[in-house]
Amino acid sequence: MSNLIAKLSNVSKLYGEGSLEVKALDNLNLEVHQGDYLAVMGASGSGKSTAMNIIGCLDRPTYGKYELNGNSVEKLTDDALADLRNQELGFVFQQFHLLQDATALENVMLPLLYACIPFSERKELAEAALKRVGLKDRMNNHPNQLSGGQQQRVAIARAIINKPSLLLADEPTGALDSNTTEDVLNLFDDLHAQGITLVLVTHEDEVAVRAKRRALFKDGRIIKIS
Ligand code: ADP
Ligand code: MG
Repeated sequence: MSNLIAKLSNVSKLYGEGSLEVKALDNLNLEVHQGDYLAVMGASGSGKSTAMNIIGCLDRPTYGKYELNGNSVEKLTDDALADLRNQELGFVFQQFHLLQDATALENVMLPLLYACIPFSERKELAEAALKRVGLKDRMNNHPNQLSGGQQQRVAIARAIINKPSLLLADEPTGALDSNTTEDVLNLFDDLHAQGITLVLVTHEDEVAVRAKRRALFKDGRIIKIS
């Protein structure tokens, strides 16, 4: 059995109170192992983003247990959880979330600011990450000088700069056309082949077929894994 990275055990997440209470996750169990590539699917409102937020340590379960690389999240302070998030996780979002006033290189260097790494080393690492995503020639461009697909590749470079044990992507191709989607999916395939563990939310079958496993969410539960 390969190394266990993320483990959700009977995780429930409740929002609101009384008659307004929503059970976004309902006794969810899920394991992600090193080398996995998992596509999370399901209708809108089925709990995909809530599950990603918990896996990504952006939120905590209401009930149940979440362990990331052996760390029980419920035992950690908010600061310790933030440290764990910065060290272990990379995030990619549908809308890229790049700083518009910064170059591609500066955007990619940003996560290392908190790791006490000297400027020259940060720059070298960011250049290497941008080369890895095929953007060697666009390092000094600002986001508004890049296509959607290029901006997403900058965001992916930023997400892998700290060598995360898990890369999380919530609808990463949702804002891209089909050609660019293909480029980004090829990049995910390359990163996966190089050993990166991936969990990706998607509505699109063409995206999900690229993954190793597919988890179908409904009403806060996984009703099928294939
Ligand atoms: P998905 O990503 O699959 O579309 P979500 O995880 O965003 O689904 O949402 C699951 C359920 O939880 C939905 O009913 C949604 O309305 C509810 N929900 C999500 N976030 C919140 C929140 N911050 N406050 C209240 N309800 C929420
Ligand atoms: Mg969502």
